[in-house]
Amino acid sequence: MKIHEYQGKEILRKFGVTTPRGVPCFSVDEAVAAADTLGGKVWVVKAQIHAGGRGKGGGVKVAKSIDELRQYATDILGMQLVTHQTGPEGQKVRRLLIEEGADIKKEYYVAALTDRATQKVAMMASSEGGMDIEEVAHSTPEKILKVFVDPAIGLTDEQALFLSNGIGVPEGSTAQAVDTLKKLYTTYMETDCSLAEINPLILEGNGTIKALDAKFNFDANALYRHPEIVAYRDLDEEDADEIEASKFDLAYISLDGNIGCLVNGAGLAMATMDTIKLFGAEPANFLDVGGGATAEKVTEAFKIMLKNPKVKGILVNIFGGIMRCDTIATGVVTAAREVHLSVPLVVRMKGTNEEIGKQILRDSGLPIIAADTMADAAQKIVDAVK
Ligand code: ADP
Ligand code: MG
Repeated sequence: MKIHEYQGKEILRKFGVTTPRGVPCFSVDEAVAAADTLGGKVWVVKAQIHAGGRGKGGGVKVAKSIDELRQYATDILGMQLVTHQTGPEGQKVRRLLIEEGADIKKEYYVAALTDRATQKVAMMASSEGGMDIEEVAHSTPEKILKVFVDPAIGLTDEQALFLSNGIGVPEGSTAQAVDTLKKLYTTYMETDCSLAEINPLILEGNGTIKALDAKFNFDANALYRHPEIVAYRDLDEEDADEIEASKFDLAYISLDGNIGCLVNGAGLAMATMDTIKLFGAEPANFLDVGGGATAEKVTEAFKIMLKNPKVKGILVNIFGGIMRCDTIATGVVTAAREVHLSVPLVVRMKGTNEEIGKQILRDSGLPIIAADTMADAAQKIVDAVK
């Protein structure tokens, strides 16, 4: 789960990380009032969307007067902000963060993330803050420093010092940088993140270290123990079909292709998507109906897939283990009738009660194309949508 920058900064502050003062706003009037409350002479108007690269896309503006601030707030609120992370259609801006202007002397990059290879938390830092870290990783990978944290010990002073010195934090600010890194690690652990990134972490003219941006991803499987983080959820930022699917406990991700896939088990769903690609087409979605799919759940899954106008055919690929093929077959038939299915449907099922399942499909009288192997299924659906 993702959250907004201003929410991320609230969390960072709770864990003792210094950030600029700021106020989240939903209207231009609120933005003007916020600048008044903050005082000072320079404010930054920041679009709040669940994507990075806002600065380059025109979603972060420095205002040097209230008139300027009003103008920027008017321009940014409601705009369709396009960044390299939003895709070409962009994301509509519904919230702003009005923040005091920081006196930036240097921008660094710091982040905590799960490193699967070492099965540890990696703390990363770079002197090349403020910009696209993927670009830094690509062209100057030596400028990204990493340490791996032993979970029983936590981030040590030595490790934090190695990062701080390695990215060139001046001596007078080292203690605060080390402290910030340790607090970032604690934040990451205590809130069950999969990513906690501060880009940029800045050095101010007076030597203060501050988090100027905050990006968090939380592990969805741990959200049940963090109601305070769930409360930050902003459904406007999420895919409507994915929200609908989550209500029925379906793991659904929208993709760009034209073949809808309904599969049980995440591994089989991945393999099915790969097979579709192997046969020259593109999947329209990832959809795992899980182990306990009922006819009702399968119907909902069909409805969600078919809401996507790009879907020109559906491939159902089921392995009957605990889940029985006849249950799925009943679900598929019910769903196909209820949604008045008008696109080709290929069904492949293997395993428990396979023969009964296939009989149910044949008896339905629906134009369902049966397939035997995965290759056969992929070939048939790819041919059918051509
Ligand atoms: P994004 O990563 O989405 O582009 P950031 O929050 O990192 O958004 O802001 C982009 C850039 O804008 C920063 O690298 C920094 O140079 C500038 N900036 C952001 N917030 C402030 C602030 N409060 N004061 C001064 N400059 C800022
Ligand atoms: Mg940033």
